[in-house]
Amino acid sequence: MRPALLTLALLCPSVALAAPVVDTARDLHCGRLFDARSGQLLGPHTVRVGDGRIQAVSAGIPATSPGGAVDLRAHTCMPGWTDLHVHLEDQSSPQSYSEGFRLDPVDYAFRSVGYAEKTLLAGFTSVRDLGGDVAPHLRDAINQGRVRGPRIFAAGRSIATTGGHADPTNGFNSTLSHLLGPPGPTEGVINSIDDARQAVRQRYKEGSDVIKITATGGVLSYARSGDAPQFTVDEVKAVVDTARDYGYRVAAHAHGTEGMKRAVLAGVTSIEHGTYMDDEVVRLMKQHGTWYVPTISAGRFVAEKAKIDGYFPEVVRPKAARIGAQIQDTFAKAYKAGIKIGFGTDMGVGPHGENAREFIYMVEAGMPAAVALQSATIRAAEVLGVDDQGVIEAGKRADIVAVPGDPLADIGVVMDVAFVMKDGTVYRQPTDDDAAGMP
Ligand SMILES: [Zn+2]
Repeated sequence: MRPALLTLALLCPSVALAAPVVDTARDLHCGRLFDARSGQLLGPHTVRVGDGRIQAVSAGIPATSPGGAVDLRAHTCMPGWTDLHVHLEDQSSPQSYSEGFRLDPVDYAFRSVGYAEKTLLAGFTSVRDLGGDVAPHLRDAINQGRVRGPRIFAAGRSIATTGGHADPTNGFNSTLSHLLGPPGPTEGVINSIDDARQAVRQRYKEGSDVIKITATGGVLSYARSGDAPQFTVDEVKAVVDTARDYGYRVAAHAHGTEGMKRAVLAGVTSIEHGTYMDDEVVRLMKQHGTWYVPTISAGRFVAEKAKIDGYFPEVVRPKAARIGAQIQDTFAKAYKAGIKIGFGTDMGVGPHGENAREFIYMVEAGMPAAVALQSATIRAAEVLGVDDQGVIEAGKRADIVAVPGDPLADIGVVMDVAFVMKDGTVYRQPTDDDAAGMP
């Protein structure tokens, strides 16, 4: 859903919190434990962490723990969440379109720092950043401990065709277009099989972890169609085949039916948004094992903003009203049909740090809370193709979040994350107020 160079008007305020508590061996005393593998909510458990990993998980809570313990007896512990679709350098606003002409990449980089921290503190210990120049660099800065944020699986620049959703020159006047010349594979624009190969190899050179294509038009780009197919099957296939050489998976942004079909047939790993998914697409996705990442949050956000005069350019407004309102219904249909679903919000369209609201939208549309939580934990790890996160089991990364009370009885508690640990380091701890609610 992201137009090129979209971002927010203001630097976000930093969250006032103590320095992270560094990784030392300790126990977490959890009142309940969500077992992402079975989808069951278990009773009191002790989770031993150390060296960035989960060392042991045992039923019950001892009176004392060697090396101290974190008291989460009033909380439910679960694996850290993954948002499979974010853009950490952006947050859309009415200023976004003009800012694309005024701001430098470094301005977006500074903004991404606050967004990354908000995302982590909201319980998201991993994200897949699907489009943006900043993300591979932000990933490295986070991994080096310079910036606080989630583990990032970065696409780098999205790949589009000329005039397509991620063409970074959409909306430029003719003087600018002539000065700059047509964008090519380096800029993420392809028009042939050879270009497709070059664009993927360029992403490899720039340090991407995953490949993103915009298989159809999109909502926020300065272009008329939000759903027309924008790649041939052969072009998508060239992207997917080349991506495979580098161990990459391909995520395909798609709203329209035909573009979705082509992307699924060409072998992409996931369809993002999937707005006009019809019965044939459903059948093909099940047949090919294609994942669906719905991004209901973005749909609701743009549909709401489309009601405000002047919020979006006039070319964008009707797309936002129509496509945005449809996504939650599509999600309900896809879930009923048995398509594999991974959690994703497209934050950067909506406000970073509100990612968990997607759980509430999923439950509202008919998905059981336990399945929604699985989509952001064990299932998200499957989409990423990693096996060291997404469950609380010995040997896995110590990525753990805790919410007050029982999220299966009241999914609303996901907005009230009290504890965040990533790789064994604590970034958020319960306050005394949280503890006062102890049963
Ligand atoms: Zn997006």
